Amino acid sequence: MNNKIIKVVDEYEKSINDGIIVGTKCDECNEIFVPPRPICLLCGITLETFEKIETEGKILTWTIIHIAPPTHLEKVPYTLAIVELNNGQKLTGILNETNNEKINFGDKVFASFDKLEDGAKRLRWNLSS
Ligand SMILES: [Zn+2]
Repeated sequence: MNNKIIKVVDEYEKSINDGIIVGTKCDECNEIFVPPRPICLLCGITLETFEKIETEGKILTWTIIHIAPPTHLEKVPYTLAIVELNNGQKLTGILNETNNEKINFGDKVFASFDKLEDGAKRLRWNLSS
């Protein structure tokens, strides 16, 4: 991986461990990318400004994974959701609900930062009610 990508991934993981989500903001066009990208998709410039972003939103769509890649075998079933944040940005992540009957389009969700076995925290989405 190149250094720009490593820096952005490090910053993102650090933010999750601190209980916030950050994106990168373009100083040229003000676009915010989440998860953070090292380069602006619109201007092509290197992004070095990190900005705290929304931790609440609604479910756009989801899928429950039963057949996982080797790294996620012990996690099945798990739910992967695309969440539209309150400011319109979209962020994919694991939803802490695997009962399909309890999940609906547009359901409100909030982020939690759950500590895993390896001690690192991971972003998880949770149904609000
Ligand atoms: Zn830009």
